[in-house]
Amino acid sequence: MHLPENIVVQPTNGNLLLKQKMWRTKIPSKIHHFLWKLLSRSLPTGNNLRRRHITRDVLCKRCFQTEETESHLFFDCDYAKQIWRASGIANTTIDNPNATLEERIQACLLVSSSVRLQHYNDLPIWILWRLWKSRNRLIFQQKHTAWNLILGYAKNDANEWRNIGAQPMTDASSTHQRRESVSTKQWFLPPPGYMKCNVDGSYISSEREGTAGWVLRDDYGIYKGAAQSVGVKVGNVLDAELQALLMALQHCWMKGYRKIILESDCLKAIQILRDKDLYFSGYNWIRDIMWWARRFEDVRFSCVSREANKVADKLAKTSLHTGSFIFHNYVPLTITNLLHEDYVNVHL
Ligand SMILES: [Zn+2]
Repeated sequence: MHLPENIVVQPTNGNLLLKQKMWRTKIPSKIHHFLWKLLSRSLPTGNNLRRRHITRDVLCKRCFQTEETESHLFFDCDYAKQIWRASGIANTTIDNPNATLEERIQACLLVSSSVRLQHYNDLPIWILWRLWKSRNRLIFQQKHTAWNLILGYAKNDANEWRNIGAQPMTDASSTHQRRESVSTKQWFLPPPGYMKCNVDGSYISSEREGTAGWVLRDDYGIYKGAAQSVGVKVGNVLDAELQALLMALQHCWMKGYRKIILESDCLKAIQILRDKDLYFSGYNWIRDIMWWARRFEDVRFSCVSREANKVADKLAKTSLHTGSFIFHNYVPLTITNLLHEDYVNVHL
């Protein structure tokens, strides 16, 4: 059973004084946001994702020994321990597995300003950041980064930042941030109060039924369900997309959602529905979609890149073994990683 949303999705307040100290530390705004998420317990780590019912697979993806909590990931996993040990930052709080996460982060912020580390301003913070990046690289790209490289990167970040003179910087002024910055290829949260439904249709031939997949997420990016459906035979790709949009729209209505963003990577279909393009042979599809759309409080048709619609694409292309419709209350295994990826992009 899902817990009430207001309990599971709100970040905790965390330690306010510590957060204030963190905001005053001269680091790039991207790192401020990362630390804020970390302190608010809202990074998509195993424990937090489980709390939000996004996954039940909570083990650390590096050692598979224990639950991936923030403390484990950033301090207690053997991989992290090696980095801290080699960093030369000997600090009894950072190294203490019995200290709370807040105490350890506070120690990171304090050590950062010590004279001993003057050549590496804020190195502990850069280590945290690099640990997070490498963890995501491991999970989403299945690429392992040697721990000593991580330490090298963190020192490099610290140096680069010091050379810039700790001035506020935009993404464009930092080489590594520019490389890593997310483009419009990422998935975005819907506006407050809206449900976003990413839809995709699949067409193989006019002899086969068109199939569809869609994924529902709320304005916190929380998974609300996904579906796969087999429709009627269609003549071309565009009709398969329109059929998918119609089935998703009807399903959203049935689920009781009244303000939705229907998102597809088929520009043509979206332009037709926005009245920006004509498509006479698909008139029946368009008429049906519009008829359903008028019943809602608000329906917006949005077009995204394929990269931002991968979850729906995957579902549309995955065959149903039995029946012609399936609703996934829990995240289907086939899209666990893709969904996680969208979630991480949105929350960083
Ligand atoms: Zn581990």
